[in-house]
Amino acid sequence: MRIILWLVLGVLVILALKKKARDMQSRAYQSRSEMGPASAPSAAPAHTVKDAEDMVSCAHCQLYVPVSDAVLRGELHFCSVAHADQHTH
Ligand SMILES: [Zn+2]
Repeated sequence: MRIILWLVLGVLVILALKKKARDMQSRAYQSRSEMGPASAPSAAPAHTVKDAEDMVSCAHCQLYVPVSDAVLRGELHFCSVAHADQHTH
């Protein structure tokens, strides 16, 4: 029965060492990201991706919309399905 206690103790020591190694790694990563502004993963919310997106103007009202939000009819982009329908009718 005592061998189980030693096994548990050994596992705990291994887990503690692994946790310590992970802490040191994350600390090294943090100090690296403090030096370089490019490596800040938390400072990249979804809307910055949208800002970098290509903008197209609606062929009906000239409103600029991100290309992923635009409605494509043939060669023309529209801000909404309603404007696409108005243009084609
Ligand atoms: Zn429009």
